[in-house]
Amino acid sequence: MVDTSSESRPLTGRRAAVTGSTSGIGLAIADALARAGADVAINGFGDHAAAVRRVAAHGTRVEFVGGDMARAADARAFVADVRRRLGGLDVLVNNAGVQHVAPIEDFPDEKWDAILALNLSAVFHTMKAAIPAMRARDWGRIINVASVHGLVASPFKSAYVAAKHGVIGLTRTAALELAETHVTVNAICPGFVDTPLVRGQIADQAKANHMTEERVMKDVILASQPTKRLVTTEQVAALALYLCSDAASGVTGAALAIDGGWTAR
Ligand code: NAD
Repeated sequence: MVDTSSESRPLTGRRAAVTGSTSGIGLAIADALARAGADVAINGFGDHAAAVRRVAAHGTRVEFVGGDMARAADARAFVADVRRRLGGLDVLVNNAGVQHVAPIEDFPDEKWDAILALNLSAVFHTMKAAIPAMRARDWGRIINVASVHGLVASPFKSAYVAAKHGVIGLTRTAALELAETHVTVNAICPGFVDTPLVRGQIADQAKANHMTEERVMKDVILASQPTKRLVTTEQVAALALYLCSDAASGVTGAALAIDGGWTAR
């Protein structure tokens, strides 16, 4: 049975949009927001019907709002569509992201452009579209899913590292511009999280390097993560939920690491 008490459903009446929420971290965040009582817009590619079914199980209104966030016009239209379909937008989670791994001298120009467009410029376009109404209502939560690669670099991830560092700078700038309102803007910086994306990378590397998946996990994936454990999508979602709470109203402009100790070194 769905528990509708205000204590367990603190986001009742809030309208939330999560980009890239058909899978992985975005889906877990959408699920947690709905469980907390928010109406939620799902976005992303792939099996969106399954994502909508899962999130709608919490009994709030859940709508699929499509759009390729790598296209500026789609990103702006996404915010307008969410407002129309849910009646407003109080919580914006910029989560959609992609990765490509290659040395700079071999990095394809089109991959650079695509990663910058989705992982950085989309965050600008959705925030630009969402901020005026949040400012007018004097309440809002913007959460940008950056990465530990917004704080430190790794080789062969030039576009991703540049974009994620950019997202943190953009987050800080927006937080300062909105500091005297009750709209907060924060970045979450996960280390390796157990998502289909990472599981796929492990399988690919195992095949390419003739290693077992266990070996790739230990020697490649978890080499930088002192806990030697993947972060879970539910742990990232719990942090996003905290940022939406009244208790977090003093947290703005932060880049919060959830990285198993990666950046403690
Ligand atoms: P994922 O591949 O499981 O999910 C990505 C989501 O984005 C999917 O819903 C996909 O359909 C959607 N998407 C892709 N391109 C899109 C586009 N152009 N427009 C709209 N939606 C699009 O990935 P994930 O691992 O859950 O990653 C989510 C976010 O978390 C990304 O920004 C990623 O950089 C960040 N992140 C992930 C990890 C990790 O270890 N998995 C670590 C740090 C940061």
